[in-house]
Amino acid sequence: MRDFSHDFSIYIHIPFCVSKCAYCDFLSFADTSRMDEYFSALEREIRVKGREMGGCVDNIYIGGGTPSLAYPYFVRLRKALDEEFFVRDGAEISMECNPESVTPEFIDAAKAIGVNRVSLGVQSLSDPLLRVIGRAHDRQKALDALDSLTKEFPAVNVDIMVGLPGQSEKDVAETLGTVLSYPISHLSCYSLILEEGTPLCAAAERGEFALDDDYAVDLYDRARERLSATGFHRYEISNFCKGDAVCAYNLSVWQYGEYLGFGLGASSFLRKGEGDFAVRLKNADDMSVYISSSGREGGLREEIVREEGEREFIMLALRLEEGLDLASFYEIFGFDFMQKYGEKVKKLSKMLCVTKQKVAIAPEYFYVSNSIIEELIY
Ligand code: SF4
Repeated sequence: MRDFSHDFSIYIHIPFCVSKCAYCDFLSFADTSRMDEYFSALEREIRVKGREMGGCVDNIYIGGGTPSLAYPYFVRLRKALDEEFFVRDGAEISMECNPESVTPEFIDAAKAIGVNRVSLGVQSLSDPLLRVIGRAHDRQKALDALDSLTKEFPAVNVDIMVGLPGQSEKDVAETLGTVLSYPISHLSCYSLILEEGTPLCAAAERGEFALDDDYAVDLYDRARERLSATGFHRYEISNFCKGDAVCAYNLSVWQYGEYLGFGLGASSFLRKGEGDFAVRLKNADDMSVYISSSGREGGLREEIVREEGEREFIMLALRLEEGLDLASFYEIFGFDFMQKYGEKVKKLSKMLCVTKQKVAIAPEYFYVSNSIIEELIY
């Protein structure tokens, strides 16, 4: 008998892109020749894990890569999910897309499987900057995509980046101002990170440009102020939304909810599973291994002991503006957070907001959140 009382989120990874962006170290490939085999393996993985686990699904996040490229496979995917899981009515089904593959065919296919939130990778609306970071779209394509998506979906997120090589305050303001003139409900703003092994990192190492971290922080602050003045509140370090239009999947991960991941390199996190306290499973990130075993081989299994779980819970919760919920901590770990961490909280009190219910990092100290969290947990 399947356990339908078990609620979790689902993440599905679609690792194909039109081309590889110059800053990208995500698990994604410009070669789409194995897409057919990939979806057969993905469908098998969903069916096998579904039969083992079953359960109710609160929300689904389809990320990548560029899921919008794979619209011909959407119906198969949804059918497999519906046959193996109970997807709750009104569940948020969120899908990433990129402007070059936002077509009428994609929109129809996404709506047909119940996608009710889309996340568009814009990054910048400056054509010269888009070329520097190797994006596959230009400003006009991004605007066309924004126009169509905001007409067709109830919730739209836009990703933008700050701290790009040569990016000025004016560039950021223009991109933000234009994006915010569309009826979007969510915006994610990331600072560029030079990941080793990427073409952009190599260009920086050759001295073709240098990033200025302080300037990037200033740009981020200007963006934050602009967003706040337009009615977007920051609910996580990099995420802003209007009203309660949070990303349900991301929020559940930050709140230490359980999730099942399907696809190449996808992770699952199960608190009530085997092991001392929780377990994290990661699928193979080698395409051939993943396809030939449908996610059964080449993966990793990490047992998470209770103390490590505590640290993870704290790290994730303090990314959120609302911070760590003391009652949830007690419910999961069975003791009072302040009993163990009260002294450190006192020491860091200038940078924290503490109430009877919550402990949160004060918004003006978000930019040093990593060191505050480290101080607290080690
Ligand atoms: S679209 Fe996204 S996943 Fe694809 S290459 Fe660019 S940054 Fe990476």
